[in-house]
Amino acid sequence: MILKLHLKPGREIPIIRGHPWIMSGAIARSEGDHTLDEADIIAANGTFIARATVHPSSEIRARVFSTTAGDSLDAASIRQRLEVALERRQHWLPWGLDTAARLVFSESDGLPGLIVDRYADVLVIQLLTAPWEARREILIDVLKKLLHPKTIWERSDVDSRRHEGLEPQKALIYGAPLTGPVPFKEGNMRFLADVENGHKTGFYLDQRVSRQALQTWVGQLGAPKVLNVFAYTDSFGACALQAGAAGVLSLDSSTSAQELSDRQLALNPECDPSKRTYRIGDAFELLRGLKEDKAHFDLIILDPPKLVNRKAKMPQGLRAYKDINLLAFQLLKPGGVLFSFSCSGLVERDLFGKVIEGAARDAKRPVQFLEDLSQPADHPRKPGFPEAGYLKGFVVGV
Ligand code: SAH
Repeated sequence: MILKLHLKPGREIPIIRGHPWIMSGAIARSEGDHTLDEADIIAANGTFIARATVHPSSEIRARVFSTTAGDSLDAASIRQRLEVALERRQHWLPWGLDTAARLVFSESDGLPGLIVDRYADVLVIQLLTAPWEARREILIDVLKKLLHPKTIWERSDVDSRRHEGLEPQKALIYGAPLTGPVPFKEGNMRFLADVENGHKTGFYLDQRVSRQALQTWVGQLGAPKVLNVFAYTDSFGACALQAGAAGVLSLDSSTSAQELSDRQLALNPECDPSKRTYRIGDAFELLRGLKEDKAHFDLIILDPPKLVNRKAKMPQGLRAYKDINLLAFQLLKPGGVLFSFSCSGLVERDLFGKVIEGAARDAKRPVQFLEDLSQPADHPRKPGFPEAGYLKGFVVGV
């Protein structure tokens, strides 16, 4: 008999509104074959709500992939869902699919637990849940048929897999081995995705819109002096130079990111590497040092790692966001502009805005919020599932 998860009264409401997660605490009882990894989700009044993948020991017990009874994540359905994800992007992405894009964004594409990114002719997959582990061969077969990649790499080296009893994993899955970071084009820039060892699947695809916005603002400010904090491979710094920045100082704690940033910068002949300095160290300390040295900048980018990854870390994380934003305001010249980001899903946009307001107040700098930034259209968000909209940014003028 198929597996059925019966919800506690009222717990169907967020699901009907589009939230795809069913936490273990929302389930009153289950019946049927518990070895299955798909289930019907049933409201307390007995009505069918959704079909979901399940894992018995995960706190997110079930992830909805369909609201149609009888649907299953079998080969035909996986293929059809991938086709829809690709068609939507073909139709809606202003930059097309040929260079780099997130092709599958998990729950947002009705494929919970699956990420597929593309860098030129390389596909990178991330299998976040056990049901995808079981459908691995189907997925790879469909990806080969639909997209004819030269290489498929797996970057399932994420700790969250342990909740479902899976080890982190990264490996060549199909095709030609990689000979190094994968070069790809984005707008007027050439970038490198370190698919084998870089962050995420090798690059911050989610900052695409913000990189474009940065180029516009650099042009508007006219040869600004730029500080790029938490630079990683300095894609923001390279964009700023390309758009005419007078100079860029980039800060990060990672030596390997610096090496890659040099190689990436060299791919863009209009960027003069002598205008870019990359300093390695703790950003909080380096920012304080710059303040003591009375350094000033026209444009500062703050793109820290996730500073709030659990609810318990909220007060500490918010303080850290405030600290760096406060220091940034102190380092900006009058008329200067701050690009400030948070990728913490738990910190909502309004709250992040309040943190920035508090930092400006403490710095005694009058500010204006000039532009809101967010993740691009290949990282879509569905109604009822705010968690998918994790990336928030503000452009703030001083
Ligand atoms: N802006 C980058 C992505 C930044 S990711 C881009 O667009 O590609 C966050 C970066 O912060 C990582 O490169 C990490 O090495 C760096 N980092 C984390 N903690 C840090 C700290 N305390 N000081 C300096 N850098 C730090």
